[in-house]
Amino acid sequence: MLNVTQTFLPPLEEYAKLLEPVWESKWLTNRGKLVCELEERLCRYLEVPNLLAVANGTIALQIAIKALGLKGEIITTPFSYVATVSSIVWEGCIPVFVDIDPIHLTIDENKIEEAITDKTSAILATHVYGNPCNVEAIEEIASRNGLKVIYDAAHCFGVKYKGRSILEHGDVSTLSFHATKLFHTGEGGGIVTANEEIRKTIFDHHNFGHNGPEEFFGLGVNGKMSEINAAMGLAVLEYIDDIIARRRSVREAYNAALADNGVALINLREGTEWNFSYYPVIFESEELLLDVKNEMNKKDIFPRRYFYPSLNRLPYLPYGELPVAEDISRRVLCLPLSDSFTPADAERVSEVLR
Ligand SMILES: *Cc1c(COP(=O)(O)O)cnc(C)c1O
Repeated sequence: MLNVTQTFLPPLEEYAKLLEPVWESKWLTNRGKLVCELEERLCRYLEVPNLLAVANGTIALQIAIKALGLKGEIITTPFSYVATVSSIVWEGCIPVFVDIDPIHLTIDENKIEEAITDKTSAILATHVYGNPCNVEAIEEIASRNGLKVIYDAAHCFGVKYKGRSILEHGDVSTLSFHATKLFHTGEGGGIVTANEEIRKTIFDHHNFGHNGPEEFFGLGVNGKMSEINAAMGLAVLEYIDDIIARRRSVREAYNAALADNGVALINLREGTEWNFSYYPVIFESEELLLDVKNEMNKKDIFPRRYFYPSLNRLPYLPYGELPVAEDISRRVLCLPLSDSFTPADAERVSEVLR
């Protein structure tokens, strides 16, 4: 069976070895040694000044929204995983959708300004499939209009843009370390910010608002990562370069097998060093996509419709038409991609598609 992805698991004895000191100390959470070590190692690997490990990528977004004090309307993309938008609603803000750029599939920077009102407090955009948003244009618009910027960088582990980590952009970037993501801790996430004041507020928010054991600075939540999850991250991190290299070879096999076959492949923004996180293909029509998906399922191949439906169609939001996102989301399919697949697997999938 070829699923859309397969989680990388480190050798069990390596994971167990990392857990030995946890068993000895009986210290399972509340910023134990492994969480702190994982944060340090991730900072070095990702080349970012700081990273707070949290329980998942959704709480990372919610804490970012809360810590930045966002209110009213937040401009966002309809082409992402649901957590991007549900976080906005969960934090009591109103998502205002801006359609996507049909080339890069990220929020269309040329349509952001017309969506800004006197209630807008921020832009929350996704570097979808690890393809960077037009960060220069977005930052310019944000500073001209006094808006905060959060990037949902859940797909961006290790992505560089113009030679630097993509996570350096925006006031805050959030990561997901869910088991289906390129780098994972089982469940987990991360928050990156270059601003020391924001970093401190985010830290306080993720730990119930504690200011020492008997004092509170204000409202908080439990966003902490456990030692069990951090151990998984440390064990996986040993293999990350290998994981990325293997995915690269599967992607190359797909590219060769699918050239000139009527599907469009991802257009990475110029200056991107990518991480091979997903293999989306865009069909000429939804009918064709459904046919191909059915045929694949019959052969035990399970691609996923990332991301369908377009998020402006969520049942808890008023519907407003977004032609590009709705069209793309009906026609895009993510083919199976994982470090455990071989170029021969890519050929098997491509064969069905052809
Ligand atoms: C996976 C994902 C999230 C949520 O992350 P979890 O760790 O599963 O909570 C948020 N945004 C995007 C774009 C994602 O793909």
